[in-house]
Amino acid sequence: MIEVKNLVKRYGSHTAVDDLSFTIEKGKVYGFLGPNGAGKSTTMNIMTGYLSATEGEVIINGCNILTDPEQAKSHIGYLPEQPPLYTDMTVLEYLLFVCALKHVDKSTLPKQLDTILEMVKLTDVKNRLIRNLSKGYKQRVGLAQALIGFPEIIILDEPTVGLDPQQIIEIRELIRNLAKEHTILLSSHILSEVQEVCDHIMIIYKGKLVASDTPENLEKGLKSEQNISLLAKGAPEAVEGILKTLSAITSYSCEDAENGCTYAQLSITAKQDDDSKDIREELFWAFAGYKLPLLMLSSTQNSLEDIFLELTSDSADKNIDEKEEDETDAGNL
Ligand code: ADP
Ligand code: MG
Repeated sequence: MIEVKNLVKRYGSHTAVDDLSFTIEKGKVYGFLGPNGAGKSTTMNIMTGYLSATEGEVIINGCNILTDPEQAKSHIGYLPEQPPLYTDMTVLEYLLFVCALKHVDKSTLPKQLDTILEMVKLTDVKNRLIRNLSKGYKQRVGLAQALIGFPEIIILDEPTVGLDPQQIIEIRELIRNLAKEHTILLSSHILSEVQEVCDHIMIIYKGKLVASDTPENLEKGLKSEQNISLLAKGAPEAVEGILKTLSAITSYSCEDAENGCTYAQLSITAKQDDDSKDIREELFWAFAGYKLPLLMLSSTQNSLEDIFLELTSDSADKNIDEKEEDETDAGNL
């Protein structure tokens, strides 16, 4: 339904989107996850026809966004990072204005507006000036404009940024409801956000796609690594001596803890579909054999959080202020 092929966007010498390709299928919620500066907004702006690409193409339901923008755009509703709201208008005036821009059929207009206002829970404030609304309500107005014309695909750029926890819950709820009838692509730099609402996660870093899978598969993929921490009553040398004898352990570190104890962290590579002995059991017997009491033993699997951190390791902050010269790009329309 949406095909992004070999997309490249360069700002001067800086490559913001670097040969990005992916497909978005009908009816699912896709999460575009990446630290600040990863290239999420740039990609979304190109996909929605607000920015031109340096190379590559975007095909939306068979229409090329570059050569057939009107047609391609009619399939998409877009909530940009900074929604273009006219704050001196009332909610209703603004939405009517968007209806005119999107050529909404006059006969269906009143019903459509009522439905959308109800969906995003703006009916009660429809006659208020946008500038007097809270950030959460303004974001709903942004969502409402994206929904006008009931496009099949809704693209939301960081829809919950800057909202308070209650507003975040409300917007997420709205997204879940929208997902029943729309294909959704939303971006976020917060893992838990995409994890909660998305069927498929695409992790983007420095303009490249570094992972693309369901949240479950992403987690499973890296589950081969198991991390164990333990606290044993004994000197670090003694603990190391025992750990060395266990071949399943791929790496470990030991440090002095209080009261003559040693704290150790170790990783083992668990063989997939291998239900051999639990390494904790081996550790228990090994330490018992040397008469070193184990005071604590805990095991953790890699979480999606770890995967995200691993894939985007030398991350975010460096990139945030990278804007070299502020190249203005009027886009292709
Ligand atoms: P994200 O939305 O993932 O935070 P962006 O797509 O906004 O990332 O930015 C990707 C990279 O492109 C960043 O390094 C950013 O500084 C750079 N960038 C974005 N817009 C411009 C611009 N108009 N001029 C120059 N560099 C830009
Ligand atoms: Mg962004």
